[in-house]
Amino acid sequence: MKTVKDYIRTIPDFPHAGIQFRDVTTLFADPRGLRLAIDQLLDPFVGQRIDKVVGLEARGFILGGAIAHQLSIGFVPVRKKGKLPGAVIGESYTLEYGAAEVEIHDDAIAPGERVLIVDDLLATGGTAEAGIKLVRRLGGEIAGCAFVIDLPELGGRKRLADMGMNVHALCA
Ligand code: 5GP
Repeated sequence: MKTVKDYIRTIPDFPHAGIQFRDVTTLFADPRGLRLAIDQLLDPFVGQRIDKVVGLEARGFILGGAIAHQLSIGFVPVRKKGKLPGAVIGESYTLEYGAAEVEIHDDAIAPGERVLIVDDLLATGGTAEAGIKLVRRLGGEIAGCAFVIDLPELGGRKRLADMGMNVHALCA
């Protein structure tokens, strides 16, 4: 039986020399791989109340959309600055070189809604932390954060745990 990790390939020197890029398109392209990933991402949250799935751009949209469909609940995107058409709130965060900002529609989460945050990969945790802050600013409660891949040596898991997050990842 193949595991989720078996469907993921590593591309050396992408997008820059020295980066080992984890490519999940091969996981998404395989019907068994995609089903396995969605089922396993949801596993710890079965039986819990979840009202919305928040997906982080861009691969979190693919996973989050499938999870929302499976749970018959709504999906909300957190997008890079300037992409959402309606009124937004934003959070900026630092990258290795420079800064980035992500946004959410200001009416996307109702106060008290329980949210599952989804992305493909947790590295430093900067992207997920910004998503968590946006959901909290709208009054949402976070049931957990689910990732296919966690690179724990980059500190993201600890960073999110320090925010009180329940972090779930399928492989390292
Ligand atoms: P962080 O903010 O935790 O440092 O970085 C995580 C974000 O960068 C995620 O949105 C993720 O999609 C993207 N990312 C960083 N490195 C990789 C990688 O090697 N593979 C993939 N698929 N995404 C990556």
